[in-house]
Amino acid sequence: MLIERLEVRLVELPLVEPFKAAHGSIASRQLVVVRVEAGDGVGWGECSALPEPTYTEEFAAGAYVVLEEQLGPRVVGHEVSAAGLASLLGDVVGHPMAKAALEMALLDIELRTADRSLAAHVGATAERVRAGAAVGLGSEADVAQRVASLAGEGFGRIKIKIVPGHDLHLVAAVRAMTPSVEIQVDGNGAYGPSDLDLLVELAESGVTAIEQPFAVGDNRSAAKLVNRCTIPIVADEAAGSLAAVSHLQERGALSGVSIKPPRLGGIEAAVGLHHWCADHDIAATAGGMVECGLGRHALAAVAALPGFTITGDLSPARRWLEADPWPDLVLNDGSIVTPSGPGVAPAPDEDVLDHYSTRQADLN
Ligand code: MG
Repeated sequence: MLIERLEVRLVELPLVEPFKAAHGSIASRQLVVVRVEAGDGVGWGECSALPEPTYTEEFAAGAYVVLEEQLGPRVVGHEVSAAGLASLLGDVVGHPMAKAALEMALLDIELRTADRSLAAHVGATAERVRAGAAVGLGSEADVAQRVASLAGEGFGRIKIKIVPGHDLHLVAAVRAMTPSVEIQVDGNGAYGPSDLDLLVELAESGVTAIEQPFAVGDNRSAAKLVNRCTIPIVADEAAGSLAAVSHLQERGALSGVSIKPPRLGGIEAAVGLHHWCADHDIAATAGGMVECGLGRHALAAVAALPGFTITGDLSPARRWLEADPWPDLVLNDGSIVTPSGPGVAPAPDEDVLDHYSTRQADLN
């Protein structure tokens, strides 16, 4: 299809409360959305890069410039499909989340035109997926209280952020208050080789997965932990590409992968990694990026694929966003209903989008 117009917007959405992890804290959710016009079709895409480059190299305001000045001019006025986008942008090194925004918008147009849902497109068959929520860093009492209230809302799995000195006791405090909840932990790379025994103890305490305990590159520690644990040791920050995951798998340095479509460059790459994990008997979990409703719909559709054997970050965006231009996911009886409408997500409320847009560029 001929791409006739591209709108790039930097938006700043208010958060319900600041989100804290080992890599930093954010007070509002700045992100980028794109709107693409091709013929009669309109599609939307989200770039989920965070406000600061503390989790990955990309960040929202930087991605805005990349989309406006580099990626936009490569697609506007050109014939391209969602499947052909990666090769069209192949000369641009990196910037997977900015590229993923364009892929999502093109896919949105194609699926709307075909009156097809994203879930059907990727081959997802589950009508609902178990919901999971993540809780940021905080005091033991605070985290335990938040887990209890999320369990009360129907979340059967909670992922807790941990850092050294704030792990075993924290999990025990959470479990004491809410014995029934499934607990996963996420170290965001904050642990080192000397923490191996502690992490084994944590694994044996009943948590169901440990995500990225060691820094990216500390494959030796990761392999030792995988060797000593029966639960999945999940690569998250280290899982930036199929090549990176394959390299870790060959070294025995992972037994699970957090698949985040934006970080991989888009939905097609995420589905490809999902299939690779299924073929190699590696557990997979659908990872969230504190998206707005648009990115959440994309994640929920992908997460309905059968290889996601670890409960993922499947929760409605209203958990963190006070305002969202997009309709939210539906949480029903502890499960997220797989989006089944045409396209990636329903259309946004453009008044709300205008209200929270801080910059806009139009390319045609
Ligand atoms: Mg993580």
